[in-house]
Amino acid sequence: MLRLAGTLLAVFLAVPLTAAAAQEPQALAQADERFKADILVVVAHPDDEAAVTPYVARALDEHKRIAVVFGTRGGSGSNEAGAEQAAALASVREIEARNALTTLGISNVWFLSGKDTASQNVLQSLANWDHGETLEQLVRLVRLTRPEVMLTFLPGTFIGEDHGDHQASGVLATEAFNLAGDPTAFPEQVAGPMKRLEPFLENLRPWQVKKIYYFPDAERQDIFRGKGPSYSVKEISKLSKLPYWRMALDAFRAHQTQAKSYLDKIAQMDEAQIEKMATSENGWGEDQHFVLGKSVVGGSMTGDIFENITPGAIPFARPEVTAEPVRPDLSVELAGPWSFYAEFRRARGLTNLPHPEPPEIALQGPGTLVIPLWIRNRTAKTQELTLSAVLPAAWTVESGAGKFTVAAKQTAAARVEVNLPAPATEKDAKKAEPQDVTIRAEANGQVIGEAKLRVELRKRALPQ
Ligand SMILES: [Zn+2]
Repeated sequence: MLRLAGTLLAVFLAVPLTAAAAQEPQALAQADERFKADILVVVAHPDDEAAVTPYVARALDEHKRIAVVFGTRGGSGSNEAGAEQAAALASVREIEARNALTTLGISNVWFLSGKDTASQNVLQSLANWDHGETLEQLVRLVRLTRPEVMLTFLPGTFIGEDHGDHQASGVLATEAFNLAGDPTAFPEQVAGPMKRLEPFLENLRPWQVKKIYYFPDAERQDIFRGKGPSYSVKEISKLSKLPYWRMALDAFRAHQTQAKSYLDKIAQMDEAQIEKMATSENGWGEDQHFVLGKSVVGGSMTGDIFENITPGAIPFARPEVTAEPVRPDLSVELAGPWSFYAEFRRARGLTNLPHPEPPEIALQGPGTLVIPLWIRNRTAKTQELTLSAVLPAAWTVESGAGKFTVAAKQTAAARVEVNLPAPATEKDAKKAEPQDVTIRAEANGQVIGEAKLRVELRKRALPQ
């Protein structure tokens, strides 16, 4: 009797859901091919795409499909073209960016809801961008565009342009590289519909990007050499018959709010003068350099960006986390963006990412240098320690030095503030060498640790 019931049940289950047994099978909806990209560029502001457009022009020659994501619409900052500021300026700059990319034939362009943040501190940018929300948006766009490769700003602090928003775009892109292939990250994006005209679940698929490359905006590029491929900006495009730098410059003309005076100057030059300027150290240089962040398909560090890349989805590659460094029981180290990046490189498996040692920053003088510190006490009793600063001549401690206690098994935040003098003259400021700043921590008459920072004084720099 029981066996008979089982047989009956099996027959019942095998009845087709509809009476369409004799009809052709229906195709299930697939991902929209119009949005498939080979390269996804992730930058912070309208006009940042210019950091990579000479390579983008080359990739277009190779029939690569390119999509671009901007973290912000660039609402702070200057306007050389009109009176519009703030939110109005953001609306103008969105169109400038779209027009610049249209010049190159790129129309798949998106803007995250990040807000233009004028500082060098990536943590302030991430806070002002609503980090969680913009990351969710970027993961969605990675899953929609299914890029083989992502190109973005190098996440790190350097003397250079070093805008916190540029760094934030590199941080977000790296996080999205690690998360978009993970079906448990923003799972509502990869869930199939529960009803017709599904209003919540997005029906995307997880997508593992194969490689991520960075372009640094540091002034001294020596530590990045040999860490990734380089491409000439002077070669002639097969499609346009123009050098790649020229295609990049023609696209850049859309950014009137940011560079009207520069573009007006160019309009007065002959072609040789324009080339000299565009391919100088202050322009694109002769070659465009990349730093390999990660590849989950192998290949060599300096090999072509598309080396080892074959079409098609690959399995999710969970990032390997490097072990936490061993610290003494009582220690001091730089906090803020510096400790964040040390943890970030470790957690994201970016073991080969170049970073200056000691860390460096360019700041405006006169002004204040804030040195955030972590003081760790892993011992079982409260510890007294003394913080002091070793500074260049004419630099003085404003606050934060002296005696402190840290409770047992606690990590405490401290902050030393240093008064910075003015750089002597414009000429001095230009050739100024970075100065070493050392914060020394002593306990029981012994030096327990030092935090070092290299600081360059400038007439003008973004706020710390
Ligand atoms: Zn920018």
